[in-house]
Amino acid sequence: MFLKSKFMVPVLVVVFGYLSVPASAAELQTNTTFMSEAPAWINKTRIDKVSDKIQSYLEWSIRRVTVVWYKDQDSFGKAHGYGPTVLAFSRKADNTVHLGPRVTTQNFDQIFAHELSHVISFQKYKEAIPKWLEEGLANHLSQAGSVDYQWLAAQPIPADVRELSHPFSSTPEQVRYRYIASQALVEMIAAKCDFKNLLRLSVGMKMESYLDTYCRLPDLNQSFRKWLVEQKAKSIKK
Ligand SMILES: [Zn+2]
Repeated sequence: MFLKSKFMVPVLVVVFGYLSVPASAAELQTNTTFMSEAPAWINKTRIDKVSDKIQSYLEWSIRRVTVVWYKDQDSFGKAHGYGPTVLAFSRKADNTVHLGPRVTTQNFDQIFAHELSHVISFQKYKEAIPKWLEEGLANHLSQAGSVDYQWLAAQPIPADVRELSHPFSSTPEQVRYRYIASQALVEMIAAKCDFKNLLRLSVGMKMESYLDTYCRLPDLNQSFRKWLVEQKAKSIKK
């Protein structure tokens, strides 16, 4: 009804125009992060809180990463090339974190924590953390929610869980499966041995070699199948 008035239209345009432009395009620098064009709802305290949690668990001081924000899906999609399911990504080559337009004040803490886990993976652990475990670890540390074991147990299990290492090269459903299965693998390993200590042992080495000797998981695939059955049963009881 407002639109019927010739005089109201320019006012509405002005109002919408004002709302769509962030109130500030601030530059924020913390010990872990350099962020230009930060949305108005982010501040240093919030960045520090997320950073501290991940740094403390993974026992590492992050070499400052540059965080890049994208305002539209097109330029973000071109930056990673993995399709529409991706919300954010990090890049080892230039020590950067890239946040897409769907990162908001509601999901920032979790997404940023997930990406910082990747950053520490490449800054500290190099090749020590197996690729099939990296997404799961990032989800686990960023508290991405609990694994739906009833759903997971109903999915076809790959012949070898190490096939979970290429999370983007498939359909969105397969991507989802790989992320959740990887998180379930982290939960299984953490239930068998001290995960923080396993990470400590793995620095400069390959974590996989400790799964047998330290966590007593000589056959990952067999253990994973058993874990899924047990956890599904537990989740039904709840
Ligand atoms: Zn990730």
